[in-house]
Amino acid sequence: MSTIKKVFLEVNALLLANKDSLVADIMPQLMLLMSAKVGGSEVGSTHLKDDQGNVIAVFCYYHKCWELVSDHAYGAKAGTTTGLNSMCKAGVNAWTTQQRKAKSAKEALLTKLTSGELAVEDLAYEQELIERQRNNIVIADNYPRSFGSLQELKDFLANVEQVEVTEEVVKPKRTKKVKTEV
Ligand SMILES: [Zn+2]
Repeated sequence: MSTIKKVFLEVNALLLANKDSLVADIMPQLMLLMSAKVGGSEVGSTHLKDDQGNVIAVFCYYHKCWELVSDHAYGAKAGTTTGLNSMCKAGVNAWTTQQRKAKSAKEALLTKLTSGELAVEDLAYEQELIERQRNNIVIADNYPRSFGSLQELKDFLANVEQVEVTEEVVKPKRTKKVKTEV
């Protein structure tokens, strides 16, 4: 008898109890069990670790996407679950720049308001424009691949593993060319 991984225990129990059911019939219950819970041991709400506990992906606070740490540079940060910053380095740079610009733009607005260059009734609109710029996500041309959802990332990783396995299986099977002419 094989040992069931702890994470699959509930799924296993559900499948055993529904051996003769169609997958479509128990899919909603399966999805409930298989969906990632926020703050779990293996999958955090903002990071994904491998079996050895190494961080392989982070949900970038700036880009609002899942980024593989092998593709994206991350600065170290002590005292965090991942030991990494919550944003990739490119994100930190963009975020810092946008915060600085917004701060100076707001100061400029106050100057214009004081000098009468800006009407009080236009202030809210101008502030809204600055806020939009500040919260804008700027994607650089050289921005590496990223994943919009954790599921998308997991699907990608699953395929990567499959490709590696297939290559190992295929390589030894290379057939020798048979000479047809003597
Ligand atoms: Zn990022």
